[in-house]
Amino acid sequence: MTSVLWLRRDLRLRDHPALHEAAEDGPVVALFVLDPALLKPAGAPRVAFMYRTLRALDADLREHGGRLLIRRGDPTKAVPKVVKEADASSVHISADFNPYGRARDEAVEEALGDVPLVRTGSPYAIAPGRVTKGDGDPFKVYTPFFLAWVSHGWRQPATTITGRVEWHTGLDGVDIPHDPDLPRGMELPEAGEDAAIEAWRAYRNKGLAGYADNRDRPDLDRTSRMSPYLKWGSIHPRTMLADLSPSDETFRKEIAWREFYANVLFQWPDSAREYFLPQMAKMDYARPDSAAFTAWCEGRTGYPIVDAGMRQLLGEGWMHNRVRMIVASFLVKDLHIEWTHGARHFMRHLVDGDLASNQHGWQWTAGTGTDAAPYYRVFNPITQGQKFDPDGDYVRRWIPELRHVAGKAVHEPWELGDDLPSDYPERIVDHAEERKEALARYQAARS
Ligand code: FAD
Repeated sequence: MTSVLWLRRDLRLRDHPALHEAAEDGPVVALFVLDPALLKPAGAPRVAFMYRTLRALDADLREHGGRLLIRRGDPTKAVPKVVKEADASSVHISADFNPYGRARDEAVEEALGDVPLVRTGSPYAIAPGRVTKGDGDPFKVYTPFFLAWVSHGWRQPATTITGRVEWHTGLDGVDIPHDPDLPRGMELPEAGEDAAIEAWRAYRNKGLAGYADNRDRPDLDRTSRMSPYLKWGSIHPRTMLADLSPSDETFRKEIAWREFYANVLFQWPDSAREYFLPQMAKMDYARPDSAAFTAWCEGRTGYPIVDAGMRQLLGEGWMHNRVRMIVASFLVKDLHIEWTHGARHFMRHLVDGDLASNQHGWQWTAGTGTDAAPYYRVFNPITQGQKFDPDGDYVRRWIPELRHVAGKAVHEPWELGDDLPSDYPERIVDHAEERKEALARYQAARS
């Protein structure tokens, strides 16, 4: 009997348990549905990267006698239609745990009637909801989650069966659309499963050993940059975890943050939009339609590390984790603008934009989330720059106006006197003043 493998965030052929299940039943239709509801909030970098990933997957399938069937529209209609046309007896998926994905899958399941929707595997080493406290309650704090997650353990990567799968290629679909226009000069990483595996192999051999020491240094740029591949499932985190040795604990812990946030979002789906700590919604926030918000979005706040990060986001569709925290803190605590506006801007521009990691990365920095950085921990954009970009190389890379400034003086351009370039903005706020203001607003919200 024919089955449909409906691919979503598992755009690969190796280490793919749902493919195993689908292939058991007989010939497999490999389907991807272009869902307007998901395409809408994603900006050009993420959409282009997704299209490229789909093209790479189609090429991989063709090498093995298959092809990727692309349909467009509401999955509750598109998936049953393919089932009918292929006369399929089952639909196989890797389970989705995001609020939209869960609701969509339930609706598709209903629309399929007697044809089962079979969930096997997920984009995570351990499916969200499995790791809980002893009493069954979900974790709200990362460290005990991490310990329970490690002690639960995960399966070894699934074996590769691509060569043995019989593919059903008889249905007509639409073409993968052309890439949307990218900002001038933007180069995305090479997309697809082979590229993901090669990127991981190269990082494992050359970068991983220095990860713990260098991961906080945006100037050195020594993190793995695997996030866009993990976003689309070009590689499964289990494949990466299987390669780690005990000395790679720091890296394992970062993978666990991704799993932790997926768990939190699964347990509290409203936390994608609402304050995890509801009392923090009472804070007195500034309007997001201000010139300050625009300056932040454009990387023109006058604080070099903040501006470098925001320009990296616009230039590359990616930003270093340390700088994500610095710019997020600046928006919320120096400009007093709600985290939701920053999170939306990130989701529009990030090539790795992922609802769970993004919304909870924001809530953590804003002091409103699970084991959040306490609100009174306000990142100082000057000392953060001096500490994590000690020679100023990261700032100079992204801010051409400051390229003539040597060393770490670049983090305080207002001290340059006559050397201050006229085309670099003055500070839009005084950090010391706004820090006090943020703490006063926090006290007011608590009382
Ligand atoms: P590495 O340091 O090499 O880490 C390896 C992998 O571990 C990453 O690819 C990622 O999957 C995971 N990881 C690492 N740090 C975190 C973290 N703090 N939280 C969750 N997972 C983590 N990550 C996203 O994938 N998508 C997002 O939309 C996103 N938005 C963020 C927004 C804010 C405000 C903050 C503070 C963090 C956000 N992160 C997000 C987490 C983190 O910044 C990125 O995962 C990381 O920068 C990706 O680069 P990398 O692959 O080189 O990471």
